[in-house]
Amino acid sequence: MKKLMAANWKMYKTWDEAETTARELVGLTADKLPEDREVLVFPPFTALKGVSNALDADGFFAGGQDYYIEKEGAFTGEISPMMLKDAGAAYGLTGHSERRHVLGEGDEFVGQKTAYGLECGLKVILCVGEKIDERRAGKVEEVLERQLRAGLADVPRDVAPDRLSVAYEPVWAIGTGEVAGPAEIVDAHGFVRKILVSVFGENANEMRILYGGSVKPDNCGEIIALDNVDGVLVGGASLQSESFSRIVLAGSAIANKV
Ligand code: PEP
Repeated sequence: MKKLMAANWKMYKTWDEAETTARELVGLTADKLPEDREVLVFPPFTALKGVSNALDADGFFAGGQDYYIEKEGAFTGEISPMMLKDAGAAYGLTGHSERRHVLGEGDEFVGQKTAYGLECGLKVILCVGEKIDERRAGKVEEVLERQLRAGLADVPRDVAPDRLSVAYEPVWAIGTGEVAGPAEIVDAHGFVRKILVSVFGENANEMRILYGGSVKPDNCGEIIALDNVDGVLVGGASLQSESFSRIVLAGSAIANKV
């Protein structure tokens, strides 16, 4: 299974800035990208076409940070999976903590989006993760299981495993500089794998589980080597091409030689 090194640019960058960063990223990493890695960038919608054109190298993909659960229609401000694909997106993101906790998306809606994106031909990354009070109350597994079962409820049981990934992103680690410890990551990822297997059977062993939450160039090598960590989803440290290129190559033989 190839590791997926994903960048979430959130509501940052104009079209021009995004395209420039994407071109720099390809320039810094494409000829060194290990065969067992892929790179994915989620730019703002306005920059999607430019970024997907700029990511013009094997193993590089663009994705949409969000989408609505209809093909088209009177849904002011929304965007459909077909429109994302038309602008060059191969992936869609669902359940990001900012959409859950800032924009008020519930578990069921996240599940509808996950299933609809897959039905429309996107690969989908479903994000799950507990808040700090939930961790302190010993409810990590309860929260993850609830978010996963609702998030996957309408996904066909025979979905191709390379089309569905889960990102474990503890909310308290996102954008805070406070990265989860190795044991916390291994425990959470092992639990996510267990739930995925209970839903999809052995196929789930081929689904990627990404870690997200204050991943940086200097901690990525250790994180990416942990059990059941099949990639990373990076916010802040992905905004600069130099920083994200070090993350993309972290822990690989090439990075160790540089
Ligand atoms: C994210 O936005 O998904 C994220 C993990 O952000 P950061 O890397 O800044 O914590």
